[in-house]
Amino acid sequence: MDVQNSIETLLKWSSDQGIAIDSRLSLRANENANGLGVFSRKHEIPQETIASKWHGYLQSLPQNVEVPFLWKFKIQKEKANENRDAEDEDRAEALEWLNGTEVDAILRKASENGQTLDEDLVAYYNETVEPLLLAQGSRYVSKPCLEGFLRCYTLVSSRAFLMDAYHGLSMVPISDAFNHVQDNHVHIESDFGVCPECGSFSECPHDRQDCQAETSEPGSGTSDPVNDCYEMVANTQIPAFSEVYNTYGEHLTNAQLLTRYGFILDANDNDKLSWTYLNVFKALGVNPNTTGESILRQIPLVLGDHRILDSLADSQVLATEYIKGDDSLWVDSDGGVSIGLWLTLTLIAAHQAGRPSAVLDTGFEANERLKTMLELLNVLALVSGSESANMNPMFVQMFLGPIDTDYLHCVNGQCELLIRLCDQRKANLGKAGVEAETLGDLLDVLEDSRKRTRQAALLVLGERSILDSCQASWKDFQRVLWAYVK
Ligand SMILES: [Zn+2]
Repeated sequence: MDVQNSIETLLKWSSDQGIAIDSRLSLRANENANGLGVFSRKHEIPQETIASKWHGYLQSLPQNVEVPFLWKFKIQKEKANENRDAEDEDRAEALEWLNGTEVDAILRKASENGQTLDEDLVAYYNETVEPLLLAQGSRYVSKPCLEGFLRCYTLVSSRAFLMDAYHGLSMVPISDAFNHVQDNHVHIESDFGVCPECGSFSECPHDRQDCQAETSEPGSGTSDPVNDCYEMVANTQIPAFSEVYNTYGEHLTNAQLLTRYGFILDANDNDKLSWTYLNVFKALGVNPNTTGESILRQIPLVLGDHRILDSLADSQVLATEYIKGDDSLWVDSDGGVSIGLWLTLTLIAAHQAGRPSAVLDTGFEANERLKTMLELLNVLALVSGSESANMNPMFVQMFLGPIDTDYLHCVNGQCELLIRLCDQRKANLGKAGVEAETLGDLLDVLEDSRKRTRQAALLVLGERSILDSCQASWKDFQRVLWAYVK
């Protein structure tokens, strides 16, 4: 039998036996050897890696999730190599724009151990991830690197769902392909309360207290085909030929969207600008060790008084969606001021007027005082929103007449402080040396390729407009007050 015939016979026999030959290989005659040899076909065959059942999914994931902490990491790395490309220039400029924004605050925020997120990640990689991967040899990754780890981290942090008590935070293929809007079409549903030991939805051996979990193999619980899946459920009608959206969270701000997922929405009603107590004290010239400290002692007492909170709930001016014990300091996209911020400004105003005791008590008296000030603010909002206010002092007097002038001065002080706080924030917002008025023009001429810079500049524009609208309302309150208090 000649070689060609014997190869054909061999191939037929293999196929009859169910032996599959990799399509990248062929059997051919080889005179140098013992008749035949195995040859590669026209494509290179890469080094064999472990075939993962997730391969098809993993290869579909983006190369980079463009979140700001990675921009920072990438340009630091390229700086060292002195080979920044256009993408890195874009990342560097975008970071300059983020100065003083909510994103900046998130990036600078330290965790419990005093480190920022990127510092935490680098340390975790060096101390835990790299040693673990190296100990596995080249079984999973031939050469682990920090960059690869950070890519994985952002993929998980931007795509994973908290599924149930057994799976916890999980990557869920296809479910993670839905993009985000606030008014979503679909949401994922799962039964969270499965057995944390085996994932079973129905009764399982772990339900019995006395059971020493003999069958704690993952997935060993009774599997029920009806409940053994996650569902994307439509919560509204979905029009034909339209993109189907999920929501990643109904209350996410643009700063949170950019830092977690690498995008922002054109308009986002959830946006808020926040301050720490120290920021506020610094911006308003309050000594944190004396006045600041006494204010910090006072706030929880006031917020712990239910009578005061009941009064606060009626405010037309403050943001009233109040969560018990929340003393955070912010203004929102409607110019609403958080209860914590308003109280802080009220206390600072009282201190600066040399009358800290005016609001520094709790109990009936303090409640009455705060209540009066809140009513006054409601009146100011009503009057300043009404056209006739500027024209007719009698109209203003009708509203403000019965209110003691002490309160008018105190509320005027709150207005002053808030306006100053917003001014100070605007002065430190965005890329240094760029006038706010030119921001719109700059965006008009920005090349399309500078997409990160565009996101960052749009974010600055949004934050600035929140500050502007907040200032405008409180300036209006002041105008009404001044028309009355001479
Ligand atoms: Zn179980």
